[in-house]
Amino acid sequence: MKFDYIPGVPTPRTPWRRLSLLGLLGFAVAAGTAQLSGSFLAASVQADALNALGQQSPNDTSGADFDSIIQTAVKDALTVPEASQWTTVSVKSGQNLSIIFEALGLAHDEVFDLLSLGGDVHRLKKLISGDELHIRIADDRLEGLTYSLDERRTLEVRRGDRGLEAVTLTAEIERRSTEIAGEIRDSLFLDGRRAKLSDRMIMEFADIFGYDIDFAQDLHPGDRFAVVYEELYRDGKKLRDGDILAAEFNSQGHKLRAVRFTAPDGNTAYYTPQGQSLRKAFIRTPVDFARISSPFNLRRLHPILHTIRAHKGVDYAAGTGTPIKATGDGKISFQGAKRGYGNVVTIKHGSGVETLYAHMSRFRSGLRTGSRVRQGQVIGYVGKSGLATAPHLHYEFRIDGLHKNPMTVALPRANPIEARYMARFRSDSAQMTAALERADTRLASLGALARP
Ligand SMILES: [Zn+2]
Repeated sequence: MKFDYIPGVPTPRTPWRRLSLLGLLGFAVAAGTAQLSGSFLAASVQADALNALGQQSPNDTSGADFDSIIQTAVKDALTVPEASQWTTVSVKSGQNLSIIFEALGLAHDEVFDLLSLGGDVHRLKKLISGDELHIRIADDRLEGLTYSLDERRTLEVRRGDRGLEAVTLTAEIERRSTEIAGEIRDSLFLDGRRAKLSDRMIMEFADIFGYDIDFAQDLHPGDRFAVVYEELYRDGKKLRDGDILAAEFNSQGHKLRAVRFTAPDGNTAYYTPQGQSLRKAFIRTPVDFARISSPFNLRRLHPILHTIRAHKGVDYAAGTGTPIKATGDGKISFQGAKRGYGNVVTIKHGSGVETLYAHMSRFRSGLRTGSRVRQGQVIGYVGKSGLATAPHLHYEFRIDGLHKNPMTVALPRANPIEARYMARFRSDSAQMTAALERADTRLASLGALARP
């Protein structure tokens, strides 16, 4: 069985990271479907982990079956480079924070916001050649940054509920892990808050499982969630929340689990307890909230040329200026104007995969042929340059030069845990699974108490 290979018409996933918290508030259990389907395809087929699991024995609730489905799916898929969450930047001579941020596709005001935090953040104004920054970016926003100030102290910046926050970690900082579990009554957002999770934590939780669960459409009352996360303390006083270490979503008895793991090279990601990645190497759609105006079709009457010409891509109708995102990590292999395509960007992703984005009104400033881009990074804006009657994005997905239907092509998982880290991961994973189970048990006993 394949759960993430979609045999018919797939549903573009909800772009969680782009949804405002206000938007999330509206995703109640009952109302979710109607609110979303209007923006996407009318015929939406959910072919995700939950549905696939739903066809199995309902009594088999171990995380292992979820994992084996992923393994089967991965086996005949492509191997591609890891879509990394953290980027390590080695500062070169003459580089400052603005130059580094621009190269990463971050807007100028991100530098300003960061430096205005004061304190040890000021040290980032005096970067010298050879310094190392670990940076996490999501949706073109700075999500996290760590910088070693000296042997004992590390500057750690992250985005919290109220924007960027910085803390200097020293030996005195204590990290405690906390477990929280809750039950879905209304929505992930409301019930997450009831369980005392921060808004930020709820977004991260949704993000971790975002490739497998559509929290707007797949929630059922009685579904349960559990989170193990870090809290940072100094002198017995809580400074702030840290990262999610492990998470669980229990949908009608089917448990999906995620464990955070940081490899020695600094790359951090979430994996199933068996070590499979929870991310995919590509996102399905390069534009949010767009409508498909022309599907992949090898015998199509061209709207301008009026001849039968294969349409070897998918067209997404969207307003001029709508941001276009790279669907996977890679390197820009071409950026420029090309006949019918107009302003076009192609990205090489490794293992013979190349994606193409045409008819742009303009390119993202700071990017050029040869630039490295990350999954989800904005690379340009919708337009109607070249042969186009109305503003839209023409998107192609090629494997070894052959055009594949971007809507149905098998999207590979990001790489699993490397074999050499597996032993360490398994021991982390066992601890985290035990913590998730503690949270579960506590919730169950609270539930038993509440019942008359
Ligand atoms: Zn097209």
